[in-house]
Amino acid sequence: TYNFSAGPAMLPTDVMLRAQQEFINWQGQGCSVMEMSHRSKAFIEVAERATHNLRKLLAVPDDYQILFTHGGGRGQFSAVPLNLSAAGDHADHLVTGSWSKGAVSEAQNYLQADVVGGVEVVDGITQVQAQQNWKLNDKASYFHYCPNETVEGIEINTVPDTNGVPIVADMSSNILSRTIDVSKFAVIYGGAQKNIGPSGLSVVIVHNSMLDKARVETPSILNYGIIAKHDSMYNTPPTFAWYLAGLVFEWLLDLGGVAEVEKRNQAKSDLLYNAIDNNDFYANRVALQNRSRMNVPFHLANPELDALFLKESEAAGLKALKGHRIVGGMRASIYNAMPIEGVKALIEFMNDFAKRNG
Ligand code: PLP
Repeated sequence: TYNFSAGPAMLPTDVMLRAQQEFINWQGQGCSVMEMSHRSKAFIEVAERATHNLRKLLAVPDDYQILFTHGGGRGQFSAVPLNLSAAGDHADHLVTGSWSKGAVSEAQNYLQADVVGGVEVVDGITQVQAQQNWKLNDKASYFHYCPNETVEGIEINTVPDTNGVPIVADMSSNILSRTIDVSKFAVIYGGAQKNIGPSGLSVVIVHNSMLDKARVETPSILNYGIIAKHDSMYNTPPTFAWYLAGLVFEWLLDLGGVAEVEKRNQAKSDLLYNAIDNNDFYANRVALQNRSRMNVPFHLANPELDALFLKESEAAGLKALKGHRIVGGMRASIYNAMPIEGVKALIEFMNDFAKRNG
């Protein structure tokens, strides 16, 4: 079985096997890691190792804090304005799909969230507007964008130039899939349930200069300064998710790190997009430069065959290919944990289905 779910998503098989082995008797402790105090020496070691390894994987500079917290990606839609702005401030938002739109509606509860740019459709193909057409505001408290739109399969490959305005990125669905220059960002955040681990955990990478600006009314569990000061243990963290994330980080390091997994992601997505482009039976409607390596939406030329495609693909062990209801059609999410064999199996099925129904 290959699981193409957009999230919670497939985790590396080796990690799941190790977690299973350790499940009820973690490191000879006689209990599961999820049954231990977050303040125990043993768990603190797990937490510190995970943090250290994530810092290594993304080459996070010393003047950034890594926070492991609650509230998923959406929790950060509120945490960002609360930590980075005062009431009445403006923030620039690039809206390229469902999640960056969601961030605007939440931010509007706290400040003036201005939509400064987005996508355009040219000949039926969606692309992100060129940056010179965005209406950036030099006085904005921050610029927010989503480098990978999970629903629409739209990815932005270069970090925008905001003329010094702090950049905040929702990397929920592409963190750790490619190398990034963390020093260009004020805040990077993401829900864990795609490339990091199970849901219930979010990771925030925040520059030190953003730690003491929170509004007084900021709930402590969203306050970057408080979370950082207490090593992400001001309240009880999602310990099991943090432990599992640590196993995923070790798996990634053993694989050769983010540069290596990026090569694999490039190869997997190239294969799948080529298969779609080379067959009139299927179409992807995102411009080449914005096609996501993580989430590949595609449509059948005849949507009446959608239900049959889903039924047969499920029976063939290819799970969760139904597209998001906003976009329709199909979506194959091929995060870090998806092996190339899974992509090949999908392509084989797609070609065969097209032959039989074309
Ligand atoms: N941002 C992006 C890009 C996402 O893909 C998601 C969820 O899939 C979210 C935010 C929301 O995350 P959560 O459901 O963890 O709040």
